[in-house]
Amino acid sequence: MPNDSVVIALNEIAAEVRECPKCELCKSRTHAVPGEGDPHARIMLIGEGPGYHEDQQGRPFVGASGKFLSELLAQAGLKREEVFITNVVKCRPPGNRDPLPDEIAACSSYLDRQIEAINPDVIVTLGRFSMARWFAGERISKIHGQPRKSNGRLIVPMFHPAAALHQQSIRPQIEEDFRKLPKFLAEFEQDHF
Ligand code: URA
Ligand code: SF4
Repeated sequence: MPNDSVVIALNEIAAEVRECPKCELCKSRTHAVPGEGDPHARIMLIGEGPGYHEDQQGRPFVGASGKFLSELLAQAGLKREEVFITNVVKCRPPGNRDPLPDEIAACSSYLDRQIEAINPDVIVTLGRFSMARWFAGERISKIHGQPRKSNGRLIVPMFHPAAALHQQSIRPQIEEDFRKLPKFLAEFEQDHF
C-alpha cells in the first residue's frame, strides 16, 4: 500500500531525521537511523541509539545486539519485518556514550510522531533510556517483563539486548520476557475488541 497515510507519515519523519540539525549528534553521524519495520506493526520496539554498525548502515539493530534481538523475536514467534524497531535518539552518540538529556529531548518529537503514526498496541522499551519515557525513576531489574497500560497501549519494559550479551545472568530473563510477548498481545487484543 504505497499511498497509505501511515507510510507517507513515516517516510516524511525519516526524511526529516536524515537531515536533522537539532542536536550535536548531527555533527558526528555517518547516517541517521530513523527506524524500520512494518508500518502497521502491532508491536514497536524502542532501543537507545545507533551504535557503530547502525551508523554505518543507517539501519537500527544490525550489529551484535541486533543479531540477538532477531533471536529474541524468533523466540516470541516474530520476524523483524513484522515489528517496527527504532531508538530514543536517531544519531549515534560518539564512542557509544549514553545519550544526553538535551539530545533525548531534541529527538523526542520524532519518536512521538512515529508512535502516533504506527499506533501500536504494544511498545517494548529496551533498556533504561526508552523505559524512562514511561517509567521514570523505576528500576529495570524490578519491573522488566511487567506490562502496564498507558494511553490505550501496553508498555512492556525489557532489558537492553546488549546488557544480556555483556552479563550472562540477564540472558534467561530477557528470553523469558520476550517469550511472553505473544500472550501480552493476545490479552490486550481480547480486552479491546
Ligand atoms: N543498540 C541500540 O539501542 N540501538 C540500536 O539500534 C543498536 C544497538
Ligand atoms: Fe536530530 Fe535526533 Fe539526530 Fe539529534 S539525534 S540530530 S535530534 S535526529
